[in-house]
Amino acid sequence: MKSCPSCNELNEDSAIVCTKCKANIHAQSSSYGVIIAGAIMAIIGLIFLMYGNSQNNNIGSQLRSLFGSGQTNPGTPWMIVGGVALGVGVILVVVKMASVKK
Ligand SMILES: [Zn+2]
Repeated sequence: MKSCPSCNELNEDSAIVCTKCKANIHAQSSSYGVIIAGAIMAIIGLIFLMYGNSQNNNIGSQLRSLFGSGQTNPGTPWMIVGGVALGVGVILVVVKMASVKK
């Protein structure tokens, strides 16, 4: 059994809509959509990170660029965007996976 998020009515685990208020309680499909979107986001972020890294070539120039003007390393903006996308994507996947398991 699972409880409806809007009216707390108990429904069968296989139910797609609540028997009382007709709200959509079949949350798994939307959660999987978010997990897939998060995974794609993480992969794109990883590609951006690797692209930025190849543009910058070494760790030393990356650090100088991050703390300096950013003009000497064309890959740094790619790495920042990639790092943010990777982080958000991983968080989305982890949070949604945890909620699906409940
Ligand atoms: Zn309901």
